[in-house]
Amino acid sequence: MLYVYILIGIFGLACIITMIVASIIEAKKSRISKEIMKPDVLMDCEKKLGEFLESNKISRREDLLRLCQSLNVQIETVPPINRHLNGAEAVIDSSENGYIVRVAENLGVKQRRFAIAHEIGHVVMGDELPVKRNGHGIFIRSKDEQIRDYIAAAILLPRDKFSQLLAEKRFYSLGTKGKNEFIATVSEEFDVDESVVIKRIKECKLLAEIPS
Ligand SMILES: [Zn+2]
Repeated sequence: MLYVYILIGIFGLACIITMIVASIIEAKKSRISKEIMKPDVLMDCEKKLGEFLESNKISRREDLLRLCQSLNVQIETVPPINRHLNGAEAVIDSSENGYIVRVAENLGVKQRRFAIAHEIGHVVMGDELPVKRNGHGIFIRSKDEQIRDYIAAAILLPRDKFSQLLAEKRFYSLGTKGKNEFIATVSEEFDVDESVVIKRIKECKLLAEIPS
């Protein structure tokens, strides 16, 4: 019987430790997220992306694959244990006449597109290539990494195009069911995860609050 109590005790302790670690991670994530989710930070990212696309003579509404063609980004699918990936989902490096993105073959279509767009985000922000893998943790992403994530979402769901869609569908007047249907439809049409669509809605709402 004593063993049972000891086992229950160990299990209970493990649960408490897991909960403490999870709440620390969550607190850190939400703090970083608050740093990013500020209109001026988001506007700065939009400006940087806009200038980058303009300087490369690329439309702000360009599809990801055509954007890759315009920037001469070669995409190579590699096994997840590839030495270049070093545990990441994708990495970007300079090539002779452009860039090469190596992306893990085990990613789904939506994850793969986001990973490629994130890597292009590093180029947009002028990062030294190949990018050092600091801040790419699964649980905690640094502020810089979240900004590259923002750029990825802005490439996949361009602000003008997405805001226009939100207005056309009267998104903010929709009920919960209508909003969920909108999110699911955009996720399928644009090949992005629903979590990216939901975040993009919040970002576009924040950007719309900035007086022009
Ligand atoms: Zn990154």
